[in-house]
Amino acid sequence: MNKIIMIKYGELTTKKANRKFFIETLTRNIERVLADYNVKITKDRVRMYIEFNERDLSGILDNLKKVFGLHGIVVASRVNNNIEEIESCVLDTLKESKDKTFKVDTKRADKNFPIHSMDFNNKIGGLILKNTSLLVDVHNPDLIVHIEIRPEGTFIYTNEIRGIGGYPVGIQGKGLLMLSGGIDSPVAGYLALKRGVDLECLYFDSPPHTSIEAKNKVIDLANIINEYSGHIKVNVVPFTKIQEEIYKNVPDSYIITIMRRMMYRIASRICQKNRLKVIINGESIGQVASQTLTSMVAINSVTNMPVIRPVACMDKLEIIDIAKEINTYETSILPYEDCCTIFLPKHPVINPDVEKCIKYESTFDYESLIEDAINNIEVITDLNTKSNNDFSELL
Ligand code: ATP
Ligand code: MG
Repeated sequence: MNKIIMIKYGELTTKKANRKFFIETLTRNIERVLADYNVKITKDRVRMYIEFNERDLSGILDNLKKVFGLHGIVVASRVNNNIEEIESCVLDTLKESKDKTFKVDTKRADKNFPIHSMDFNNKIGGLILKNTSLLVDVHNPDLIVHIEIRPEGTFIYTNEIRGIGGYPVGIQGKGLLMLSGGIDSPVAGYLALKRGVDLECLYFDSPPHTSIEAKNKVIDLANIINEYSGHIKVNVVPFTKIQEEIYKNVPDSYIITIMRRMMYRIASRICQKNRLKVIINGESIGQVASQTLTSMVAINSVTNMPVIRPVACMDKLEIIDIAKEINTYETSILPYEDCCTIFLPKHPVINPDVEKCIKYESTFDYESLIEDAINNIEVITDLNTKSNNDFSELL
């Protein structure tokens, strides 16, 4: 009998045509988070197995809990498909149990095994009754003794850790996350990663109006969500000139609308340049003047790129709950200014008119400013993927 980690893929097994790609991507992502451990990974269409050193178990489990596409994690005892070995392993597993009631749940995936699942439940149930003080309760047991009889061996376990679900990061390609230092955009990024979309980030930096601390905060946030990806980099766009020109040339109430149209223009071009499929941001319907539906239409009209807004229909409190779960909240609420807040007018328009936007934009040469900004992007690739965040609340 030896211990082995058994991974259940869950949701992705329903995507039959792409299953191989899903599993390959998931395997790569698991290999990445376990790179520091001495493990052996094997897999088939329904299960993945990880052989490990006993002393590494808790570290390995902590890392697996951050891998999307992974629905169940089980530390099982593995024996041969042999009745005596299974019986002895079950009794050994229950030796220390303090529970009062149990049931047995056998899955017989190896059809060569001579006893059917129900009969085997009864047989093992009888064995447990005879050898321990546990009682049967099939409806609400304290303990379920799982016995999975598969062609590659029999796996016996009583606990299953829930994985964080979703799809393996990368199976959908990459999107561009507009990452500010606020609460919403890191959560939007996390939710996109959860659906398998890997990310590059884009941050609009306006020194000296915004500080180095504001920029570092964005890098810290990128770092936290990078725990789920490992490939995230941050494109820092020098946005000062564009903002100043907008401030000089555009009526107060339209400053934010035009500024956001410029952000979208730049984001679209970076997507084309870096082959990113979608723009992702933290806009939430109605949260501020630039996020009314009419504002979104006026701002969105500068691009043909799909814009995914994972938190569009969430309440702020719901977004905050996720931010706390994923440990971005404490960083997000640090009080550094954002380029959206420093030039915030007293009365931003809530129903902007596209014709007016176009008219105001024609008063300055934004095309060359955008080109300049894109040519001077600073790309930060050196994110520390190993920060010590505790994701245990996610379970
Ligand atoms: P957040 O809490 O994420 O900053 P918010 O409520 O402050 O959101 P806004 O400031 O209006 O909302 O911005 C909406 C979205 O636009 C952000 O969630 C983010 O995706 C993007 N955004 C805003 N400012 C920046 C910036 N300086 N750099 C990159 N993206 C930005
Ligand atoms: Mg903001």
